[in-house]
Amino acid sequence: MATIDPIHVIGGGLAGSEAAWQIAQSGVPVVLHEMRPERMTEAHKTGGFAELVCSNSFRSDDAETNAVGLLHEEMRRAGSLIMAAADLHKLPAGGALAVDRDAFSALVSERIKTHPLIACEQKEIAGLPPEAWDSVIIATGPLTSPGLSAAIQGLTGEDSLAFFDAIAPIVHVESIDMGVCWRQSRYDKAGPAGTGADYINCPMDREQYAAFIAALIAGEKTDFKEWEKNTPYFEGCLPIEVMAERGPETLRFGPMKPVGLTNPHREERAYAVVQLRQDNALGTLWNIVGFQTKLKYGEQSRIFRMIPGLENAEFARLGGLHRNTFLNSPKLLDGALRLKVAPRLRFAGQVTGVEGYVESAAIGLLAGRFAASERRGETLPVPPPTTALGALLGHITGGHIAGEEEAGHRSFQPMNVNFGLFPPAEAVSQPGAKRLKGQEKAVARKRAFTSRALRDIDAWLAAPGMQRTA
Ligand SMILES: Cc1cc2nc3c(=O)[nH]c(=O)nc-3n(C[C@H](O)[C@H](O)[C@H](O)COP(=O)(O)OP(=O)(O)OC[C@H]3O[C@@H](n4cnc5c(N)ncnc54)[C@H](O)[C@@H]3O)c2cc1C
Repeated sequence: MATIDPIHVIGGGLAGSEAAWQIAQSGVPVVLHEMRPERMTEAHKTGGFAELVCSNSFRSDDAETNAVGLLHEEMRRAGSLIMAAADLHKLPAGGALAVDRDAFSALVSERIKTHPLIACEQKEIAGLPPEAWDSVIIATGPLTSPGLSAAIQGLTGEDSLAFFDAIAPIVHVESIDMGVCWRQSRYDKAGPAGTGADYINCPMDREQYAAFIAALIAGEKTDFKEWEKNTPYFEGCLPIEVMAERGPETLRFGPMKPVGLTNPHREERAYAVVQLRQDNALGTLWNIVGFQTKLKYGEQSRIFRMIPGLENAEFARLGGLHRNTFLNSPKLLDGALRLKVAPRLRFAGQVTGVEGYVESAAIGLLAGRFAASERRGETLPVPPPTTALGALLGHITGGHIAGEEEAGHRSFQPMNVNFGLFPPAEAVSQPGAKRLKGQEKAVARKRAFTSRALRDIDAWLAAPGMQRTA
């Protein structure tokens, strides 16, 4: 029998371990390169594969009404090693899936090290992988070592690899009160891809503005970790509360300037305006422009709901500023996670611009399957956009809408899986049943997303040529 050349996976974290497993389970050999323990990152403490660097939670395990719970279930059905190890070492945590981090990492390490088709090399890959490696998955995470980061940056260009994330909160559009807000671009400018009504505007009067500034300044903030303090980003992209501290008028002359906008609901001119910009192609998610922040999550929900029109805002994600390393994936990667300028290189995990342990492993699962089927001379269809795997993949490879780049940072920012990434789904009521309202309607809508997703993931996994890896 002809021997199959191995696929090289760089990074034995959540994504790299899952990718290596998926490849090997489909009968293709893998070499997994991990630099720890010889060279550590600032956050990892062990030499184990799939080390959880912070919390031990995989978040909600509810596959009926929660997007990350749904992702768990889809991954289980696709034979995920990360999910199998989590299920075997789960701890009591209510509706969440929390794990014993040491036992979890030990089991992933053992399964990887004893797999007959996986060879492990414990060494840093400090530059571009050798040309002889014709299929490579780079899954080196938010703390990719400097040598490899520099090589990736050389290949992709100066602006294509970010070294911090500056995330403004993202809001589900249906939770915005359009009786208060209105759609308009400043001076009705249409721009290259717009209509002249591309922003959602939230007006503030003088008193509301003063109260909002005071709340921003008084709000509790999170601290930077010691190793994050030297990350070079500050002047380009200040947290909103730091701008507020520079003087009461700073925001009114910055992201909250009221010029070029006319409120159709009221005659008097707004004293300040908060703008939201469309974040995904589906138009379901909108980000608050310029509102990157180090405020604690609870404080963000409280303070940003003071904005007129956002009193009942539901946040798809809250803001943050962290050290991170991630690609401008919608621009750089094709639909199968290959770097367009060098298709022998695939990317997986947090470095692609997803956020979280589970999401990172999910992209590892897909990258592994894509690489393995390519090695076998087959083309794997992408998972349907109605599934959690497909929605997440769509977000990083094309679903995000690029906005005007604010000074110092670009608009694509890391994201957890959430229902805003899925095409809309409506709850179907049974003939004769009473019409659903409020919370019941919201739950029925979530069930519509998840039942459609599980049906579609099963069809995808059953497609001809698909390797069952479980
Ligand atoms: C401090 C911190 C805390 C976080 N806390 C959480 C949290 O609580 N919950 C959550 O869901 N997410 C958290 N995240 C985000 C994210 O989910 C995790 O970082 C997750 O581990 C990402 O998975 P990954 O596989 O992409 O990267 P990692 O799990 O970091 O794996 C990357 C691997 O690549 C190796 N590597 C790097 N460079 C090289 C190289 N050149 N050659 C060989 N190997 C290399 C690293 O040693 C590492 O093992 C946190 C991130 C950070 C930085």
